Amino acid sequence: AKKQGKNRFYWFEAPMENELRFRNELEAGIRRGIEKGEFVPYYEQQIDLDSGELVGFEMLARWNSPEMGLVGPDIFIPIAEEIGVIAEMSEHLIEQAFADASEWDSALTLSVNISPVQMRDPWFAQKILKLLVKHRFPAHRLEIEITETCLHENIGMVRSMITSLRNQGVKVSLDDFGTGYASLSQLKSLPFDRLKIDRSFISELRGEEQNTKLVEAIVSMSDGLKMPITAEGIEDEDILAALKKWGQMKGQGYHYGRPEPADKVLERLQTKGRL
Ligand code: C2E
Ligand code: CA
Ligand code: CA
Ligand code: CA
Repeated sequence: AKKQGKNRFYWFEAPMENELRFRNELEAGIRRGIEKGEFVPYYEQQIDLDSGELVGFEMLARWNSPEMGLVGPDIFIPIAEEIGVIAEMSEHLIEQAFADASEWDSALTLSVNISPVQMRDPWFAQKILKLLVKHRFPAHRLEIEITETCLHENIGMVRSMITSLRNQGVKVSLDDFGTGYASLSQLKSLPFDRLKIDRSFISELRGEEQNTKLVEAIVSMSDGLKMPITAEGIEDEDILAALKKWGQMKGQGYHYGRPEPADKVLERLQTKGRL
């Protein structure tokens, strides 16, 4: 009986212990990775849907982990937020992105994702402006993407932050639009430059029995708010065709290509003559 009890102990305890160890290693790996510059920007093309022209790139973070290979942001962003290193990580990434984007055709924009945790920092706008100056990167080429979850926080502070960024010429858009709980009156009071429709709505436009109702509702909201749309998650020709009917949108997605590292972006721009 004693032996059985002991076995049971191992049966239940070992997985939890392993999980904890894995988590601790992940945290240590992230801290080390920031020091060693293992976090790198990847870029996804953004297209003007009417003309089909490339208009810019969204920077998406990747972790080049020596142990695990290329790791996506859904794994490390929440942990970086929790252990308080998200701002430092993000600033490293943005600095690399400014350096990369400085080599591109100066008409191309650069979008970056910002965590709600960073939006709590009253000096956030000033930090961005300092980085712009340091890298001599034109403010009008930069677009900051913030998610609807930011709006649960101190809305007055979010509003003044958006305003001070925009006063310097930086664009600010609302990311994952439709997945949060922003009210119309909140949206009306926040001066966003664009709305980014989340992929979950765009995928409704796929296939035979496509559901256009949700996207239609979002498009009419964007008309009312006078905030143009970027559609994310355009995966095929059908979705693209459906979106083009509304006109005047930007879009991005696997139909145009996967996110790629800076050197691949340069090759792409070279063949297009846009360096
Ligand atoms: P997001 O801002 O909604 O970014 C779009 C995500 O959808 C990206 O995933 C992109 O690779 C993926 N995607 C793009 N086109 C398609 C498509 O056609 N089909 C499908 N199925 N997926 C598509 P990724 O790179 O894994 O990023 C996930 C999320 O991580 C991003 O969602 C963003 O919220 C966050 N993120 C990425 N980089 C950063 C960063 O530097 N800072 C912060 N705070 N968050 C970041
Ligand atoms: Ca985004
Ligand atoms: Ca999204
Ligand atoms: Ca997101």
